[in-house]
Amino acid sequence: MENSVDNTPVKGCTSGLQPPLTAVLLRGYQTKGGFTMKAKRNLTASIPDETRKTVYRRDGYRCALCDDTHGLQIHHVVHRSCGGSDDPMNLVTLCWRCHAEAHGTLIPERHSYLPKTAEERWVTWRSLIDEYEQLCVEYLSEYYAIHGAEWYPYK
Ligand SMILES: [Zn+2]
Ligand SMILES: [Zn+2]
Repeated sequence: MENSVDNTPVKGCTSGLQPPLTAVLLRGYQTKGGFTMKAKRNLTASIPDETRKTVYRRDGYRCALCDDTHGLQIHHVVHRSCGGSDDPMNLVTLCWRCHAEAHGTLIPERHSYLPKTAEERWVTWRSLIDEYEQLCVEYLSEYYAIHGAEWYPYK
């Protein structure tokens, strides 16, 4: 990254997170071949199968954000490096596309402008992570409130 890039952390803890450096940050419809395959690979590998199933079941085998039923993956809302746990309370079902967007590595199709400079990519990356963190927090806190539990994603 260039020195002029704003390095203040995105909302929440992002230690261990790096902005994407290579040929990422493409709008969905522009992704093909290698990149799509890369995005489709699950970003979270180490969650026990039983926990995975619990989370998928809770979320109705749908993406919590767009209702897609294909390419489902599990996302840590609060990153482990920030004290987020592998408890279902900290996990949410996302489709591969929303998951890549939540990590700031895929520009949603609704974005009409594709970032070009390093600064623009950085700003977009940060705002996507913030936006999707907020959406996931809203989804989970509402779900647990409805079921009479206080949402607590930490260990
Ligand atoms: Zn989705
Ligand atoms: Zn994730």
